[in-house]
Amino acid sequence: MNGNTQIAVTIDSLCTWVHDYDPHADIALIRRAYAFAEQAHRGQKRATGEPYIMHPLATACTLAEMRLPTNIIVAGLLHDVPEDTTCTLDDLKESFGEDISHMVQGITKLGKLKYRGMERYMENLRKMFLAMAADVRVVFIKFADRLHNLETLAAIPPKKQYRIALESMEIYAPIANRLGMGEIKGRLEDAAFQYVYPKEYVWARDLSQTSLEGKEDYLKRVLSKTREMLTDAGIKELNVHGRKKHLYSLYRKLLKNDRSIARIYDLVALRVVVDNVADCYAALGIIHSKWTPLKGRIKDYIAQPKPNGYRSLHTTVFCEEGEIVEFQIRTKEMHAEDEFGIAAHWAYDENGKTILPSKHGPPPKWVYDLADIQQELEDKKKYLQSLNDIKIDLFRDRIFVFTPKGDVIDLPEESTCVDFAFAIHTDVGKTCVGAKVNEEVAPLERVLKNGDMVEILTNKSRKGPNPDWIKFVKTRHAKQKIRQETKSKIGSWIKGILPGTKN
Ligand code: MN
Repeated sequence: MNGNTQIAVTIDSLCTWVHDYDPHADIALIRRAYAFAEQAHRGQKRATGEPYIMHPLATACTLAEMRLPTNIIVAGLLHDVPEDTTCTLDDLKESFGEDISHMVQGITKLGKLKYRGMERYMENLRKMFLAMAADVRVVFIKFADRLHNLETLAAIPPKKQYRIALESMEIYAPIANRLGMGEIKGRLEDAAFQYVYPKEYVWARDLSQTSLEGKEDYLKRVLSKTREMLTDAGIKELNVHGRKKHLYSLYRKLLKNDRSIARIYDLVALRVVVDNVADCYAALGIIHSKWTPLKGRIKDYIAQPKPNGYRSLHTTVFCEEGEIVEFQIRTKEMHAEDEFGIAAHWAYDENGKTILPSKHGPPPKWVYDLADIQQELEDKKKYLQSLNDIKIDLFRDRIFVFTPKGDVIDLPEESTCVDFAFAIHTDVGKTCVGAKVNEEVAPLERVLKNGDMVEILTNKSRKGPNPDWIKFVKTRHAKQKIRQETKSKIGSWIKGILPGTKN
């Protein structure tokens, strides 16, 4: 499968794909769900004029590309049944059981948005978080559903096109990114791009096409040379292929580079997929022994993964005929994670609703934060304040900061020493009196940078956080803790001075 959903898919091809990655999959169940949905939607048409069933089928195919377990594929096939047909959730529960009908219910809930404008945005965000905290699989289905809707957007009125496309770019894509689902994020953005920024879309598309013209043969030669070198060195290459940069992501990069494409080296990146981590480094060495690397362009995201969990070795080299080419070297597990993020882990286990820890360590801390966030969102009074803080926490770029022992703390950009202190432990935050950044004394309000090593100096006799810290801290967590501590202190102080109250 090549990810091109324009190709007409059939239930037979869906079943073949699922069987390929999961030989034990219950194919009969998938066929039964298809027949059920086809019957329920019979007579309905999409705005494109196609029979409605093509939409849930396309949704299920995207889920199969993520190599997800059968139940999720089945829920994808059934996702619009209770909303758009006379069949109810109870009917689904009876025919397909609790787990599947529960996922479909989650999708149905996500679909109903009452508001317009900024409120709609907030409502949408809130619902996505609630759905994620309850069952992250629902969000996978929502992405696949949205992707097909975007790909068939041409058929609906322009005003609606713009709203759906914008929503996809501002809500769905950033969430996909935070879940490490790079491929889904890229596809959502690319499908929405032309509707949100039509002129810029044409400009970027034409620029990319022009600069790739005639390059195909060249890249093919480099690919086969790379394969040959790896084989000669006894490294088993599982896959070496070229990968065109997603258009919207190219556009963003162009904006940062004075709109000049000359110094963008990853317009096409060559991906080398090998069997294990040792082979990744060996392959890097072989590539460097043939082609000279550009200074400062070697990045080891295996030893130091990106905040969203991305791992690979990157290098940019002066390649054949002096052309500059970027290589990305990874194992097949890293490759699956790059494309489908936490969804990749579902391929290894059918274990219900728990977010599975990666084989390479626990999931990022923010996954656990989702439960907290849900709790707070339930509390209506705090609703607006906390939504703002959450947006800052999740949508800004993240930085990695190290403890003196080498543990990595994942923080939003522009976090300060105090944010770091509270991220380590509430007691460290409450009692911090000073900090050292990269072994030099630094003020507590110092804004941290990626890769800083931070040591917090504490004094146990300190009575609590300084209320003024609230003015410079960035994380929701630190703000919340400082507010709490300050409030309880003022509370007991008031109690102490009011006549007639006993402390
Ligand atoms: Mn749908």
